[in-house]
Amino acid sequence: MFNFDNSYTTLAEDFYQAIMPSSAVAPQLIAFNTRLANELGIDYDGIDEQSLANIFSGKTILPGSKPISQAYAGHQFGNFVPSLGDGRAILLGEIITPKGLRVDVQLKGAGKTPFSRGGDGRSALGPVIREYIVSEAMHALNIPTTRALAAVTSGEQVYRDNSYQNNLVPGGILTRIASSHIRVGTFEYFASRQEYANVKQLADYAIKRHYPELLGQENIYLAFFRAVAKRKLSLVAKWMSVGFIHGVMNTDNNSISGETLDFGPCAFMDQFSEQKVFSSIDRNSRYAYSNQANIALWNISSLANCLVPIMGIEPDDVSALFDQEFEILSDYSKTVWAQAMGNKLGIFSATQEDLGLINNWLHYLENENLDFTNSFHDLAAVLHQNSAQTDDKINTKLKTSKEFEQFLSAWKNRLQQQSQDIEASESLMQQHNPLFIPRNHQVEKAIVQAMEGNYKHFHRLNHVLGTPFTEQEAHQDLKAPPKEDEIVQQTFCGT
Ligand code: AMP
Ligand code: MG
Repeated sequence: MFNFDNSYTTLAEDFYQAIMPSSAVAPQLIAFNTRLANELGIDYDGIDEQSLANIFSGKTILPGSKPISQAYAGHQFGNFVPSLGDGRAILLGEIITPKGLRVDVQLKGAGKTPFSRGGDGRSALGPVIREYIVSEAMHALNIPTTRALAAVTSGEQVYRDNSYQNNLVPGGILTRIASSHIRVGTFEYFASRQEYANVKQLADYAIKRHYPELLGQENIYLAFFRAVAKRKLSLVAKWMSVGFIHGVMNTDNNSISGETLDFGPCAFMDQFSEQKVFSSIDRNSRYAYSNQANIALWNISSLANCLVPIMGIEPDDVSALFDQEFEILSDYSKTVWAQAMGNKLGIFSATQEDLGLINNWLHYLENENLDFTNSFHDLAAVLHQNSAQTDDKINTKLKTSKEFEQFLSAWKNRLQQQSQDIEASESLMQQHNPLFIPRNHQVEKAIVQAMEGNYKHFHRLNHVLGTPFTEQEAHQDLKAPPKEDEIVQQTFCGT
């Protein structure tokens, strides 16, 4: 099924610990993502459902697999924890896709590891359902992310307080595909121990695996730092453009490859609110919606601290150099944000000069408590109506107000300045404004049903969210914001 080709286990022995999965008692298959399996070139022909459940729970270990848990550290909510590591994740091995990309095949929730500390190494079913739905939705939204290859129930009950039924909930295991699981925290693990030979080995490995275009450059570690930083900032701009709040942007959840990693208490906003926080474990709104770009810079500065000692820069020059680097990155962050939001407003190649207009729109959404996702479609409808009828009378679902009128007129002016016609702007908006996002109340519904052994809503969401930019008449209800009693106020890691 898998042609394993493991490279992480060729690194120094401090990088990982060998460990066998242990949590699957009577695994049952919930989902096997055949579309992804095909992309990855996985041959599953003739493998029956029970065998798949055994494979995706770690009960059956396939030839060539060398299960390990990876070592890493991390800044959690700003505080450094020198040893975290895969406490409930086990890397089965790596495979090479038909396109020549190397990816990790990892089980999440498959049992204790040497890094489990006080934890049980298990995963409750809820987080498995959430990660499966949201990571696949993220991919369909064209946002770099780890993927979900399979989900199973383990056959065990796991203990989680804050939950229902005597705090016992069904256990689940997710098979995660990632272009790697190297994190900022992996660098911190070695740098905090002053093991710079390992930092260098990790950097060389990460460059070869994720940034081969940098090979041969002068001061390659500085180039690597810049490349990681840019991917991260561009990722965050994309998240924010769909109203996504990651929720735990700790450095151990910050992938070096630039993929979205870990879907703990993540959530998509319904009503727009700049300072929105869902996560029950957030402290001082550190990971609020609009703080995400700054936090990304903060995480990147942690990476810089790890890499400086191997960059060969004169100590006296470090501070001036990085002041300059961060000025450039902060500027880059604004530009990618303007571009991401510009696309949603039908502006081709928006620049920071468009930020005023973008902010006026967001301010209006916040003031009027409007739904983030749907309002872009309501706005596109205004444009369509106007271009079709050349009639300036506004008939819109958006609330008209002085603020709105002012925005509308400035926005239309901006669109008219472009060389592209209005139809081109409309089509740009369509390509960047999803009709369907994994709304929290729908994800919650899928989780609640799954706990009772019913996966209907889970499968329905996966199906609809697979083509989020396409109108799907039969699923209009999934576009609706939550009713008062459906609003999810808080999300939990459920770890
Ligand atoms: P996370 O919140 O998923 O990013 O996890 C943070 C750290 O806690 C990582 O080192 C995890 O491996 C560890 N962890 C989370 N849940 C568990 C668990 N149930 N058992 C053991 N370790 C865990
Ligand atoms: Mg994590």
